[in-house]
Amino acid sequence: MTEKLYYYNAYRTVFEGIVRTCRKSRDGYHIVLNQTLFYPEGGGQPGDMGSLGGAAVLDVQEKDGEVIHVTDAPLEAGLQVKGEIDWAHRFDLMQNHSGEHILSGIICKKYGCDNVGFHMGRERIIIDFNAQIPREDVPWLEGEGNRAIWENTPLEISFPAQEQLERLEYRSKLALSGEVRIVQAGAYDCCACCGTHVKLAGEIGMIKIVGIQNYKGGTRLEILCGKRALGYFQKIHEAAAQVGKALSVQAEQIDGGVQKLFKERDMLLQEGKKWKWEVFHHRIEKLPADGENILIFEPGLSGKDMTSLADMALEKTGGRAMVMTMGENGFSFVLVSRKMDAKALAEELKKAFDCKGGGKEGAVQGKLFGAKEEIFSFFEARGFHFAG
Ligand SMILES: [Zn+2]
Repeated sequence: MTEKLYYYNAYRTVFEGIVRTCRKSRDGYHIVLNQTLFYPEGGGQPGDMGSLGGAAVLDVQEKDGEVIHVTDAPLEAGLQVKGEIDWAHRFDLMQNHSGEHILSGIICKKYGCDNVGFHMGRERIIIDFNAQIPREDVPWLEGEGNRAIWENTPLEISFPAQEQLERLEYRSKLALSGEVRIVQAGAYDCCACCGTHVKLAGEIGMIKIVGIQNYKGGTRLEILCGKRALGYFQKIHEAAAQVGKALSVQAEQIDGGVQKLFKERDMLLQEGKKWKWEVFHHRIEKLPADGENILIFEPGLSGKDMTSLADMALEKTGGRAMVMTMGENGFSFVLVSRKMDAKALAEELKKAFDCKGGGKEGAVQGKLFGAKEEIFSFFEARGFHFAG
């Protein structure tokens, strides 16, 4: 069994230990010491990083009471080595793990539920509860969690004796046996946990819920604490400030600014639609009504526009209509025919040009690549009249 120094002092960063074993493995070297400050991945908390006897510690795992340090270089058995944990990484995990305890304590008490999942990811902390948490409760929950921070609530670690433990009300994911490590955060939370925690809640800085969704009949929360919460706020604030600058409003008012912009956009779209129809009708009015075949070219048409224009032309002439517009590369087209030969015409088109498309006897749409003049000549040769 490795002696777990991190259990008793989460703030110590340097220690010395004796190498017991060193085994080469696929992911590096597996080093076991007599004692360690390196926290192994477990209980939702990732392992520590740092250095050990000059080697980089890439991962830390626990197996059968032994802490295994995965390093990038071998260390000789029997050697006394100095280990140093990456404090920035450790403190980030302490801030977030302690913040999670306080918030989970508040939530489990309020909704009479359990914390059924916990994962500290690189980006966010995920906590699952077996209760429905209404979205509108989020500001209150954040307020309560942060109140514990403002009160600088102490987080105390203890290993109570069995009879004391039996009387204690504490949260636990597993039915525990043997020595139990209890983390008490004032009246906010009491939980069995093996993780590393801050001494005073003030060190957490802030608890922020950044995501809430229904999950397996309960609720999944995404939270950020401490430096991560500040980083999130800075990112969101910068984005809001940029949007505000573009809209000429304060960052806090971008919601109203965007709503106004959408309204203006909808009005312009309506107006544009009206004008488009005017132009279409004007164009169709001039077409003959004698079964003629019409070729229309108009840049900037959507697929829907082309179909509408082609249908309107057909309605008027009763013949065939080919509507073309500039595509991303080449042309897009809609070809319709009252004579039910659009598909046959498209087949001829495919022989003469690089052309992709499909449809029914009465209507075909697709893409066409080639010189505009040559395409026009193709249709002129088949009795089509160019109508602008
Ligand atoms: Zn914990």
